[in-house]
Amino acid sequence: MAVELTDSTLYLDGVSVSFDGFKALNDLSLVLAKGEMRAIIGPNGAGKTTMMDVITGKTRPDKGDIFFEGSIDLTRHDEAAIAELGIGRKFQKPTVFETQTVYDNLELALKSDRSVRATLFWRRNTQSMARIDEILAITRLGDHADMLAGSLSHGQKQWLEIGMLLAQEPKLLLVDEPAAGMTDDETAETAKLLKDIAENAAVVVVEHDMTFVRDLDVRVTVLHEGSVLAEGSLDAVSANERVIEVYLGR
Ligand code: ADP
Ligand code: MG
Repeated sequence: MAVELTDSTLYLDGVSVSFDGFKALNDLSLVLAKGEMRAIIGPNGAGKTTMMDVITGKTRPDKGDIFFEGSIDLTRHDEAAIAELGIGRKFQKPTVFETQTVYDNLELALKSDRSVRATLFWRRNTQSMARIDEILAITRLGDHADMLAGSLSHGQKQWLEIGMLLAQEPKLLLVDEPAAGMTDDETAETAKLLKDIAENAAVVVVEHDMTFVRDLDVRVTVLHEGSVLAEGSLDAVSANERVIEVYLGR
Protein backbone atom coordinates (compact mmCIF):
# COMPACT_ATOMS: atom_id res chain seq x y z
CA MET A 1 0.00 0.00 0.00
CA ALA A 2 1.42 3.40 -1.00
CA VAL A 3 0.47 5.27 2.17
CA GLU A 4 1.74 3.78 5.43
CA LEU A 5 -0.40 3.56 8.55
CA THR A 6 1.78 6.14 10.31
CA ASP A 7 1.29 8.73 7.54
CA SER A 8 -2.45 8.26 7.33
CA THR A 9 -5.45 10.18 8.59
CA LEU A 10 -7.67 7.17 8.12
CA TYR A 11 -6.73 3.53 7.67
CA LEU A 12 -9.21 0.74 7.01
CA ASP A 13 -7.90 -2.78 6.53
CA GLY A 14 -10.02 -5.88 5.89
CA VAL A 15 -13.20 -4.35 7.29
CA SER A 16 -16.34 -6.50 7.02
CA VAL A 17 -19.90 -5.89 8.23
CA SER A 18 -22.83 -8.27 7.79
CA PHE A 19 -26.54 -7.58 8.22
CA ASP A 20 -28.46 -10.85 8.57
CA GLY A 21 -25.78 -12.68 6.63
CA PHE A 22 -25.57 -10.04 3.88
CA LYS A 23 -22.09 -8.53 3.60
CA ALA A 24 -22.56 -4.75 3.37
CA LEU A 25 -18.78 -4.36 3.71
CA ASN A 26 -16.61 -7.19 2.48
CA ASP A 27 -12.92 -7.01 3.33
CA LEU A 28 -12.80 -3.27 2.66
CA SER A 29 -9.37 -1.61 2.73
CA LEU A 30 -8.83 2.08 2.18
CA VAL A 31 -6.13 4.53 3.27
CA LEU A 32 -6.51 8.29 3.39
CA ALA A 33 -3.25 10.24 3.54
CA LYS A 34 -2.82 13.15 5.95
CA GLY A 35 -4.89 16.09 4.77
CA GLU A 36 -6.21 14.21 1.74
CA MET A 37 -9.65 14.71 0.20
CA ARG A 38 -11.12 11.53 -1.33
CA ALA A 39 -14.24 11.03 -3.40
CA ILE A 40 -16.17 7.76 -3.00
CA ILE A 41 -18.49 6.61 -5.77
CA GLY A 42 -20.33 3.38 -6.50
CA PRO A 43 -23.79 1.98 -7.15
CA ASN A 44 -26.61 2.07 -4.60
CA GLY A 45 -26.04 -0.54 -1.94
CA ALA A 46 -22.26 -0.61 -2.53
CA GLY A 47 -21.61 0.09 1.16
CA LYS A 48 -20.67 3.79 1.00
CA THR A 49 -22.88 4.90 3.89
CA THR A 50 -22.04 1.75 5.89
CA MET A 51 -18.38 2.65 5.50
CA MET A 52 -19.10 6.02 7.14
CA ASP A 53 -21.12 4.21 9.83
CA VAL A 54 -18.16 2.02 10.81
CA ILE A 55 -15.72 4.96 10.80
CA THR A 56 -17.97 7.03 13.07
CA GLY A 57 -18.79 4.16 15.43
CA LYS A 58 -22.46 3.98 14.49
CA THR A 59 -21.94 0.40 13.31
CA ARG A 60 -19.41 -2.08 14.73
CA PRO A 61 -17.34 -3.96 12.14
CA ASP A 62 -17.42 -7.76 12.42
CA LYS A 63 -13.73 -7.77 11.63
CA GLY A 64 -10.94 -5.53 10.36
CA ASP A 65 -8.84 -2.61 11.52
CA ILE A 66 -9.83 1.07 11.54
CA PHE A 67 -7.20 3.58 12.66
CA PHE A 68 -7.40 7.37 12.86
CA GLU A 69 -4.21 9.43 12.63
CA GLY A 70 -2.05 6.32 12.51
CA SER A 71 -2.47 5.15 16.09
CA ILE A 72 -6.04 5.63 17.33
CA ASP A 73 -8.02 2.39 17.09
CA LEU A 74 -11.53 3.61 16.23
CA THR A 75 -13.05 0.18 16.81
CA ARG A 76 -12.36 0.71 20.52
CA HIS A 77 -14.29 4.00 20.72
CA ASP A 78 -18.01 4.75 20.71
CA GLU A 79 -19.80 7.30 18.52
CA ALA A 80 -19.49 10.21 20.98
CA ALA A 81 -15.80 9.56 21.61
CA ILE A 82 -15.09 9.39 17.87
CA ALA A 83 -16.78 12.78 17.34
CA GLU A 84 -14.70 14.14 20.20
CA LEU A 85 -11.52 12.89 18.50
CA GLY A 86 -12.25 15.26 15.61
CA ILE A 87 -14.26 13.23 13.10
CA GLY A 88 -17.27 15.21 11.87
CA ARG A 89 -20.07 13.74 9.82
CA LYS A 90 -22.54 15.45 7.55
CA PHE A 91 -25.71 13.45 6.96
CA GLN A 92 -27.90 13.96 3.91
CA LYS A 93 -30.78 15.66 5.69
CA PRO A 94 -29.83 19.03 7.19
CA THR A 95 -30.67 19.44 10.86
CA VAL A 96 -30.25 23.19 11.35
CA PHE A 97 -32.38 25.14 13.84
CA GLU A 98 -34.86 26.68 11.41
CA THR A 99 -36.22 29.35 13.78
CA GLN A 100 -32.74 30.67 14.64
CA THR A 101 -30.59 32.93 12.48
CA VAL A 102 -27.65 31.59 10.53
CA TYR A 103 -25.33 33.41 12.94
CA ASP A 104 -27.04 31.96 16.03
CA ASN A 105 -26.90 28.45 14.58
CA LEU A 106 -23.13 28.80 14.19
CA GLU A 107 -22.76 30.31 17.65
CA LEU A 108 -24.71 27.41 19.17
CA ALA A 109 -22.45 24.94 17.38
CA LEU A 110 -19.38 26.79 18.62
CA LYS A 111 -20.59 26.86 22.22
CA SER A 112 -20.80 23.09 22.26
CA ASP A 113 -17.05 22.96 21.59
CA ARG A 114 -15.34 22.19 24.90
CA SER A 115 -12.04 23.81 24.06
CA VAL A 116 -13.76 27.12 23.32
CA ARG A 117 -15.98 26.94 26.39
CA ALA A 118 -12.90 26.37 28.53
CA THR A 119 -11.33 29.72 27.68
CA LEU A 120 -12.08 33.01 29.48
CA PHE A 121 -15.40 34.66 28.70
CA TRP A 122 -14.19 37.79 26.89
CA ARG A 123 -11.60 35.90 24.92
CA ARG A 124 -14.12 33.27 24.01
CA ASN A 125 -16.41 35.96 22.71
CA THR A 126 -13.74 37.65 20.59
CA GLN A 127 -12.42 34.35 19.33
CA SER A 128 -15.81 32.93 18.59
CA MET A 129 -16.94 36.03 16.66
CA ALA A 130 -13.81 35.82 14.53
CA ARG A 131 -14.32 32.11 13.97
CA ILE A 132 -17.99 32.60 13.05
CA ASP A 133 -16.94 35.21 10.48
CA GLU A 134 -14.45 32.74 9.04
CA ILE A 135 -17.06 30.00 8.85
CA LEU A 136 -19.59 32.39 7.26
CA ALA A 137 -17.02 33.14 4.57
CA ILE A 138 -16.15 29.47 3.96
CA THR A 139 -19.82 28.48 3.73
CA ARG A 140 -20.77 31.39 1.43
CA LEU A 141 -23.29 32.64 4.00
CA GLY A 142 -21.70 36.00 4.89
CA ASP A 143 -24.62 37.94 3.37
CA HIS A 144 -27.17 35.73 5.14
CA ALA A 145 -25.92 35.82 8.73
CA ASP A 146 -29.08 37.52 10.04
CA MET A 147 -31.52 35.40 8.03
CA LEU A 148 -33.53 32.69 9.72
CA ALA A 149 -32.05 29.33 8.81
CA GLY A 150 -35.54 28.17 7.83
CA SER A 151 -35.64 30.67 4.96
CA LEU A 152 -32.38 29.51 3.37
CA SER A 153 -32.43 27.49 0.16
CA HIS A 154 -31.88 23.73 0.46
CA GLY A 155 -28.28 24.15 -0.68
CA GLN A 156 -27.59 26.96 1.79
CA LYS A 157 -28.98 24.82 4.62
CA GLN A 158 -26.52 22.11 3.66
CA TRP A 159 -23.71 24.67 3.77
CA LEU A 160 -24.86 25.93 7.16
CA GLU A 161 -24.81 22.38 8.49
CA ILE A 162 -21.28 21.98 7.16
CA GLY A 163 -20.45 25.27 8.92
CA MET A 164 -21.85 23.90 12.18
CA LEU A 165 -19.54 20.90 11.80
CA LEU A 166 -16.59 23.23 11.14
CA ALA A 167 -17.29 24.91 14.48
CA GLN A 168 -16.12 21.64 16.07
CA GLU A 169 -12.77 21.99 14.21
CA PRO A 170 -12.86 18.50 12.70
CA LYS A 171 -9.62 16.91 11.54
CA LEU A 172 -11.59 14.59 9.29
CA LEU A 173 -14.93 15.48 7.71
CA LEU A 174 -17.21 12.81 6.21
CA VAL A 175 -19.84 14.10 3.79
CA ASP A 176 -22.55 11.82 2.36
CA GLU A 177 -24.13 12.98 -0.92
CA PRO A 178 -23.90 16.75 -0.32
CA ALA A 179 -25.12 17.68 -3.81
CA ALA A 180 -28.39 15.71 -3.60
CA GLY A 181 -31.28 18.08 -4.27
CA MET A 182 -29.01 21.02 -5.06
CA THR A 183 -29.21 23.24 -8.14
CA ASP A 184 -26.33 23.01 -10.62
CA ASP A 185 -24.91 26.32 -9.35
CA GLU A 186 -25.11 25.17 -5.71
CA THR A 187 -23.48 21.87 -6.65
CA ALA A 188 -20.57 23.66 -8.34
CA GLU A 189 -20.19 26.00 -5.35
CA THR A 190 -20.25 23.01 -2.97
CA ALA A 191 -17.24 21.51 -4.75
CA LYS A 192 -15.33 24.77 -4.25
CA LEU A 193 -16.45 25.00 -0.64
CA LEU A 194 -15.23 21.48 0.13
CA LYS A 195 -11.91 22.21 -1.57
CA ASP A 196 -11.53 25.24 0.71
CA ILE A 197 -12.24 23.06 3.76
CA ALA A 198 -9.80 20.42 2.51
CA GLU A 199 -6.97 22.94 2.86
CA ASN A 200 -7.25 22.46 6.64
CA ALA A 201 -8.82 19.03 7.11
CA ALA A 202 -9.01 15.62 5.54
CA VAL A 203 -12.33 15.06 3.75
CA VAL A 204 -14.18 11.97 2.51
CA VAL A 205 -17.08 12.79 0.22
CA VAL A 206 -19.60 10.32 -1.20
CA GLU A 207 -21.36 11.63 -4.29
CA HIS A 208 -23.11 10.37 -7.43
CA ASP A 209 -22.93 13.60 -9.42
CA MET A 210 -20.03 13.04 -11.84
CA THR A 211 -19.71 16.73 -12.74
CA PHE A 212 -19.27 17.43 -9.04
CA VAL A 213 -16.70 14.63 -8.65
CA ARG A 214 -14.78 16.01 -11.63
CA ASP A 215 -14.81 19.50 -10.06
CA LEU A 216 -13.38 18.07 -6.82
CA ASP A 217 -10.37 16.88 -8.84
CA VAL A 218 -9.20 14.36 -6.22
CA ARG A 219 -8.41 10.65 -6.04
CA VAL A 220 -11.54 8.53 -6.46
CA THR A 221 -12.40 5.19 -4.83
CA VAL A 222 -15.10 3.07 -6.46
CA LEU A 223 -16.96 0.79 -4.06
CA HIS A 224 -18.91 -2.24 -5.23
CA GLU A 225 -20.47 -4.97 -3.09
CA GLY A 226 -18.68 -3.74 0.00
CA SER A 227 -15.14 -3.57 -1.29
CA VAL A 228 -12.90 -1.43 -3.46
CA LEU A 229 -13.43 -2.07 -7.17
CA ALA A 230 -11.03 0.60 -8.44
CA GLU A 231 -9.06 3.55 -7.21
CA GLY A 232 -7.27 6.40 -8.96
CA SER A 233 -8.00 9.57 -10.90
CA LEU A 234 -11.57 10.01 -12.13
CA ASP A 235 -10.32 9.54 -15.70
CA ALA A 236 -8.55 6.30 -14.77
CA VAL A 237 -11.47 4.75 -12.89
CA SER A 238 -13.93 5.94 -15.58
CA ALA A 239 -11.94 3.99 -18.16
CA ASN A 240 -11.89 0.84 -16.01
CA GLU A 241 -14.04 -1.85 -17.68
CA ARG A 242 -15.35 -3.29 -14.42
CA VAL A 243 -16.37 0.20 -13.26
CA ILE A 244 -18.19 0.85 -16.54
CA GLU A 245 -19.91 -2.53 -16.25
CA VAL A 246 -21.18 -2.23 -12.67
CA TYR A 247 -21.66 1.50 -12.32
CA LEU A 248 -21.10 4.02 -15.08
CA GLY A 249 -22.52 1.98 -17.93
CA ARG A 250 -25.93 1.47 -16.42
P1 ADP B 1 -24.74 2.90 -0.26
O1 ADP B 1 -24.60 4.03 0.71
O2 ADP B 1 -23.49 2.62 -1.04
O3 ADP B 1 -25.91 3.05 -1.17
P2 ADP B 1 -25.31 1.32 2.10
O4 ADP B 1 -24.05 1.34 2.87
O5 ADP B 1 -26.39 2.25 2.55
O6 ADP B 1 -24.99 1.55 0.56
O7 ADP B 1 -25.91 -0.14 2.10
C1 ADP B 1 -25.16 -1.28 1.76
C2 ADP B 1 -26.04 -2.50 1.92
O8 ADP B 1 -26.21 -2.78 3.29
C3 ADP B 1 -27.43 -2.32 1.33
O9 ADP B 1 -27.82 -3.54 0.73
C4 ADP B 1 -28.28 -2.01 2.54
O10 ADP B 1 -29.61 -2.44 2.34
C5 ADP B 1 -27.58 -2.79 3.63
N1 ADP B 1 -27.72 -2.16 4.95
C6 ADP B 1 -27.16 -0.97 5.31
N2 ADP B 1 -27.44 -0.68 6.59
C7 ADP B 1 -28.21 -1.71 7.05
C8 ADP B 1 -28.82 -2.02 8.32
N3 ADP B 1 -28.69 -1.21 9.38
N4 ADP B 1 -29.53 -3.18 8.39
C9 ADP B 1 -29.65 -4.01 7.36
N5 ADP B 1 -29.10 -3.79 6.15
C10 ADP B 1 -28.39 -2.65 5.99
MG1 MG C 1 -25.61 5.81 0.96
